[in-house]
Amino acid sequence: MSNIPDLVSAGLIQPQVALGPMTTYKIGGNAEYFATVNTRAELDRVLTAGVATPITVLGRGSNLLVATGGVAGLVLRLGGVFSEIEVRTDAVHAGAGVSLPVLARTATKEGNRGLEFFVGVPGSVGGAVRMNAGCHGIETRDVLDKALVLDAATGAAVERGATDLELSYRHSNLGVTDIVLSAVFLTTDGDVDEGEQVMRDVTAWRRKHQPGGTHNAGSVFKNPPGDSAGRLIDSAGLKGLRVGGASVSTRHANFIEASEQATPEDVYRLIEIVRTRVADEFGVELIPEIICIGFEEPA
Ligand SMILES: Cc1cc2nc3c(=O)[nH]c(=O)nc-3n(C[C@H](O)[C@H](O)[C@H](O)COP(=O)(O)OP(=O)(O)OC[C@H]3O[C@@H](n4cnc5c(N)ncnc54)[C@H](O)[C@@H]3O)c2cc1C
Repeated sequence: MSNIPDLVSAGLIQPQVALGPMTTYKIGGNAEYFATVNTRAELDRVLTAGVATPITVLGRGSNLLVATGGVAGLVLRLGGVFSEIEVRTDAVHAGAGVSLPVLARTATKEGNRGLEFFVGVPGSVGGAVRMNAGCHGIETRDVLDKALVLDAATGAAVERGATDLELSYRHSNLGVTDIVLSAVFLTTDGDVDEGEQVMRDVTAWRRKHQPGGTHNAGSVFKNPPGDSAGRLIDSAGLKGLRVGGASVSTRHANFIEASEQATPEDVYRLIEIVRTRVADEFGVELIPEIICIGFEEPA
């Protein structure tokens, strides 16, 4: 980490930056070091300066719970050129930092159909590739042509398709040093008004079924095969269960909401309690979908 003072003076890296405001939970500690990189040259400079281990890439923080103790090492966010979108005839090229709702709206407005479902997922392109984000029966793997992935350990950037990335239900094989830089999504030529109606339907469904206006990170657990995590949590009578400022949503049992008084550890403890109670009641081991960072053991 010897080059850090130089990079701090150059304004490229900041020490001790609060991550909570950059996540949808709005709670959590500091990044030991933080950088928003706006160009490939800035990214390379940060990575080759010997400050790159460990690295955490932060997208839009919509699937993350950060511990009060924060995150060791360097947290990177992709801005600038990584937030650009280019709509072509039957494909959309997007930087990894592009917001998924913006991607959906931009593509649809140009008559490029098939990405409307992304309007309901408040993440980034990079986060969608890593998580194989999806909803309403469509997942990232269904629309991804290829992603450009940089291995921070080797400096090699390689284009990888959905099969190579082993995209499956909320899973990819991306490793800890892999950084998604951009992605190409395949689209079909279609009617703009119809596409906009699809997006309105997606948004209306979400307003009706999910807790709006609260701090959460979407579904906490993956659905077990043939069942729904929300149904199991609800059947176990856990809706409304509280730990400190964290509570199981009364609207959708697979959401855990955090009040302004909540600590990350309240949410983390509630995840563990829900998991244990569902396992005791139904013999089903729920697997967290949200990523908890900085905790001693992953949830
Ligand atoms: C209200 C709400 C509704 C949601 N609904 C859905 C839904 O319907 N379907 C769904 O799938 N998800 C849903 N989510 C979860 C979340 O939006 C998705 O998982 C999304 O893909 C996460 O993207 P992000 O940019 O926020 O990633 P982050 O939360 O910032 O990070 C998630 C993971 O991706 C990694 N990552 C982020 N960017 C990159 C990159 N460029 N390169 C490599 N790794 C990267 C991070 O290191 C971390 O491991 C919802 C969340 C909320 C708050």
